[in-house]
Amino acid sequence: MIHRLNQPDYDRWAGQIRRTGGCRQPIHLRGKVEHYDQATGHLLHRYSTSTEPNGVLRVACKTRRASRCPACAEVYRADTYQLVRAGLVGGKGVPETVSAHPCLFVTLTAPSFGAVHVRREKNGKVLPCHARRDAETCPHGQVMSCTDRHSPDDPRLGEPLCPDCYDYDGSVLFNAISPELWRRFTLALRRRFARLNGLTVKASREHVSIAFAKVAEYQRRGVVHFHAVIRLDGPDGPDSPPPPRATADALAEAVQHAAAVVTAEIKPLSRTFRWGTQLDVRPITMDGDLTEQAVAAYIAKYATKAAECVGTLDRRIQPLDDLAALPVREHARRLIAACMRLGGNPGLADLRLTHWAHMLGFRGHFSTKSRCYSTTLGALRAAREEHMRAEQIITGRLPLFDEDTVLVVAHWQYAGQGLSAGDQLLAAAITGTPLADPLRSEATHE
Ligand SMILES: [Zn+2]
Ligand SMILES: [Zn+2]
Ligand SMILES: [Zn+2]
Repeated sequence: MIHRLNQPDYDRWAGQIRRTGGCRQPIHLRGKVEHYDQATGHLLHRYSTSTEPNGVLRVACKTRRASRCPACAEVYRADTYQLVRAGLVGGKGVPETVSAHPCLFVTLTAPSFGAVHVRREKNGKVLPCHARRDAETCPHGQVMSCTDRHSPDDPRLGEPLCPDCYDYDGSVLFNAISPELWRRFTLALRRRFARLNGLTVKASREHVSIAFAKVAEYQRRGVVHFHAVIRLDGPDGPDSPPPPRATADALAEAVQHAAAVVTAEIKPLSRTFRWGTQLDVRPITMDGDLTEQAVAAYIAKYATKAAECVGTLDRRIQPLDDLAALPVREHARRLIAACMRLGGNPGLADLRLTHWAHMLGFRGHFSTKSRCYSTTLGALRAAREEHMRAEQIITGRLPLFDEDTVLVVAHWQYAGQGLSAGDQLLAAAITGTPLADPLRSEATHE
């Protein structure tokens, strides 16, 4: 810390850190950007990191995972919120009339892979977990009953009553196949909706289109489920109204049907997966029980969470990792072990289970949306970068050029990531962000 504070370029370093917005693990870039006049070949401006502190520019890591970098995850969360919200009420290039389009909030769950400890409430009272008067005893001698009223932070929640009976393979295989199951669900939904209107899918597209935005969320048992906004538009997307007969009720009926019928098979193991029976379909309204604000906030919240919130690791499992020594609970260890074991099956190579063992088999995207849903994260980022560029021009860091006449040549090289322990303390003070606990990310200069 003292070393950094005594550097003559401390202010410039602090400026870089401020611009990363409190990123906990900034990426170090070495390089230069040159602006040429296209007509004359004249060099108009040159920026090089050689004059920056330590010869590098520090930029935000832009991770979506709160366990890695809370500051960048917050930016991601806020962007996701804006994106989902724009698809519900308009804004960011989406017309406000979109709020009149029929729209549902749908939760698709995973099937059961064995009885797990649960917390259920009824009228504000916590119910016993699995109260069975004549409960069976499983082949491992475990009575399949639990009369505990679990507290919300009970670590047993989501864990099996009998781990030896639990279908760990099924759980990780479901995670692995769930993106395909989702894709098939969207196709089946379009087909069913068209049929309800007495049309083919192709003919239906001329009148109505269906837009999606979804996030994956890990349940405590370590299996993903999906929350989705599903909206009806006219043929040209959010700019056009759907025809009057395309109602929320018709959409809900198509959702129920599609969720019940789609399957995805893992052929080498002759296993077929489908959605769980718990399906939640609710209309989103401007003033009802489920408002657009609540939905956008809910979806954004899950966008920054990953599998580590169910007690697994937030990093890849390495070939030399000793599974027995990983600092995780037994349930997560068994899920990871199932991934590692199945990952060794050449017939399942496509699922890349070893690679995604720390995610318990899920390798899909956390938040995805169909092309016509609303704006994109990229567009939101570009708008923010443009704003920062404008600011830099005003403050004299970049000269003002007419974009069309200038050739920009950039050379960038990755030169490490992270902050030293002293830099972390200073960065936290400068940006008002909490410190990583413990100070674990070391700077990795080249
Ligand atoms: Zn970051
Ligand atoms: Zn229990
Ligand atoms: Zn058992």
